[in-house]
Amino acid sequence: MKISEKIKELNASLPEEVSLVAVSKTKPVSDLMEAYNAGQRIFGENKIQEMVEKWEEMPKDIEWHMIGHVQTNKVKYMAPFVSLIHAVDSLKLLKEISKQAAKHDRVINCLLQIKIAAEESKFGMTEKEAVTLLISEEIKALKNVVVVGFMGMATFTDDQEQLTTEFSSLKEFYEGQQMQHSNLTILSMGMSGDYPLAIALGSNMVRVGSAIFGSRNY
Ligand SMILES: *Cc1c(COP(=O)(O)O)cnc(C)c1O
Repeated sequence: MKISEKIKELNASLPEEVSLVAVSKTKPVSDLMEAYNAGQRIFGENKIQEMVEKWEEMPKDIEWHMIGHVQTNKVKYMAPFVSLIHAVDSLKLLKEISKQAAKHDRVINCLLQIKIAAEESKFGMTEKEAVTLLISEEIKALKNVVVVGFMGMATFTDDQEQLTTEFSSLKEFYEGQQMQHSNLTILSMGMSGDYPLAIALGSNMVRVGSAIFGSRNY
């Protein structure tokens, strides 16, 4: 199936409240343009350099989401245009994002990445770390950044029971935190292999790459 057809089919199948982030990492601008011409306006990339190059070349009504791990010294390159950063995992990074956003008179929306996978993952915060961060005095002082939700990556497995446990735990955490923090409106979970389950378990933002653009050759 063509990229344009997949985009249309996916968007038709997703519930109204679920946003589709088309994960276009490693793919050429021509592929992204095919998705764009089919109506897609949110694209996700995991490398800042690559996202900057695509942003420069493509129409300016696109929302660019950084879905990968972010190094502090690279925040400045995306600060002029990035619309959502999915994988924030420290106060240090939030401070840098706020500092760089201020230079462009912007407020940048961020998600905290929460560890939900049973497998050992390098990135992400524990729920406890996220709670501590959200109630800290330091975060209140950051005027150019807002935490608007959470992102989670489940274990790479076909085991539906395990995926259910992982997605459900994040959904429960999200709902609990929403009662304390009114800015939390986004729960980003679900990829090509597991997005229908993630949506059934409360996700309202899915990050889908290979199911749209085909498999990646790194
Ligand atoms: C690559 C990537 C995706 C998309 O993965 P697919 O399996 O191709 O849909 C989603 N989220 C993150 C954080 C990624 O790095």
